[in-house]
Amino acid sequence: MSPHRPTRRDVLAHGAAALGAMTLAGCATTARRGGAAYPGYVDAHSHIWTPDTERFPLGPWITKAEMDPASFTAEQLLAVAEPAGVQRVVIIQHAPYYGDNNAYLLDCCKRYPGRFSVVAIVEERRNDLADHLRALKRQGVRGVRIGPTRYADRSMVADPMNWLNAPTMRRLWTLATDLDLVLCPLIGAEFLPTLEPMLADFPRTTIAIDHFGHAHADRPDELRALTQLARHERVHVKVSAFYKFGDRKPPYDDVAPLIHAVADAFGPRRMLWGSDCPYQLLNGNNYADAVALVESGLDFLDAPARDAILRDTAARLFFS
Ligand SMILES: [Zn+2]
Repeated sequence: MSPHRPTRRDVLAHGAAALGAMTLAGCATTARRGGAAYPGYVDAHSHIWTPDTERFPLGPWITKAEMDPASFTAEQLLAVAEPAGVQRVVIIQHAPYYGDNNAYLLDCCKRYPGRFSVVAIVEERRNDLADHLRALKRQGVRGVRIGPTRYADRSMVADPMNWLNAPTMRRLWTLATDLDLVLCPLIGAEFLPTLEPMLADFPRTTIAIDHFGHAHADRPDELRALTQLARHERVHVKVSAFYKFGDRKPPYDDVAPLIHAVADAFGPRRMLWGSDCPYQLLNGNNYADAVALVESGLDFLDAPARDAILRDTAARLFFS
């Protein structure tokens, strides 16, 4: 990437120190003010976890020794994000470690007002789902992660192709719509068509599909399954997890055709860049190159499109 274009990170380098700590208040409230306090990029998808398993216990299916990396805290995330011009992050509940216990994410959201928005995992079959979602929203949750897998071991549910055809799932979609929560499907490309009937039934529900829906640019049927969903106005696509596409290494320019196809179908106002840290930091990958591809690497994007993908869409969905 050739970073000749003046970038926002130059501005941030001077402004960051002055921002300092904000007054303590509810995370959701201050997140709304974050636009003024934190004008930098937004990472729409990252995970965090803490080695403090006393205070934030892991699910009973996993041991501390199995956490890999052993630590990726809010502080570690901000330390890699800020040098790339990213000031706010949508933190995504990590099922294999915490299941539907969102406590660590909520704690970080509270400790860093305005910096984080949370996508939680909920057990949609619980009787108090409505109250539970309302309580989570008060604590900074703006989205819910859904998919055809079980929380703990990511194995498929009993009848995966019918994962959305349950009354409890319809209740979750209804409540998410009423509470203005974004539903974030983590699905393989073969599941993209399973969204269609629900999207037709729930036209007001906001959706942000993880990691391009795992469609690959060189598989036309997958790409078509993804781009077809663009006719549903409230469907957004996370342009994220570059480390798992193309040749799986920087500078990620071979992901360009995939991003181009998504841009043609959805437009930048329905695209959100996300790192999927800490995985974007492993096996020779890095954070800065993932930002740089969208910031200065894709010649089919103009400056407002880059800003939409790197900040504005995620700010609107998760921080407004
Ligand atoms: Zn992820």
